Amino acid sequence: MQTHLYTHDLPEDIDWGGSVAIDTETMGLQHHRDRLCLVQLSAGDGHCHLVHFPEPCFGQSPHLCKLLANDHLEKVFHYGRFDLAVLAKSFGIVPHNVYCTKIASRLTRTYTDRHSLKSLCADLLGIDVDKREQTSDWGGEVLSPEQLRYAGTDVLYLHAIKEKLDALLVRENRLALAQACFRFLPHRAELDLLAGEGFDIFAHK
Ligand code: MN
Repeated sequence: MQTHLYTHDLPEDIDWGGSVAIDTETMGLQHHRDRLCLVQLSAGDGHCHLVHFPEPCFGQSPHLCKLLANDHLEKVFHYGRFDLAVLAKSFGIVPHNVYCTKIASRLTRTYTDRHSLKSLCADLLGIDVDKREQTSDWGGEVLSPEQLRYAGTDVLYLHAIKEKLDALLVRENRLALAQACFRFLPHRAELDLLAGEGFDIFAHK
């Protein structure tokens, strides 16, 4: 893995192909409370591009915003529901044309409840990833080498995982249902920002 670290924005000239894997690191899991600290991106080519926000200043990212707003570019997440809400809140852009490996896993690997990124890396790729930095402090002015390696790893394997899950979606005849869920996901993220994750529009009461 090669990691490339930037502050506030990506360089303009990165070729993502047709599909970019994206993850975020924040100060915590509450959208109204916890700010975005890092956005990780990879084209699935072994390079991980890390955009660092040492302070909550999200108006200096024109190239990242252009990417997020590009509906022709597929964006692959793991539990995209969270990342989409964070990105929408920070940049005012709700990304569309998204894929979520957690949703694809839940729709196909119904024999297990192991749907974490670590589990998908282990079960689908035979790769053991180290998640120790997951709960570290991402708000610092300087991120540690361990944090940068961890952050890159979170997007490094998403394309390979997606390929495995796509085959399972076809095999189990759930591709169309998955695609419908992916189309709804940006709106689910908007609902989370509107009224919190407990706001379930599908619930009876
Ligand atoms: Mn992550």
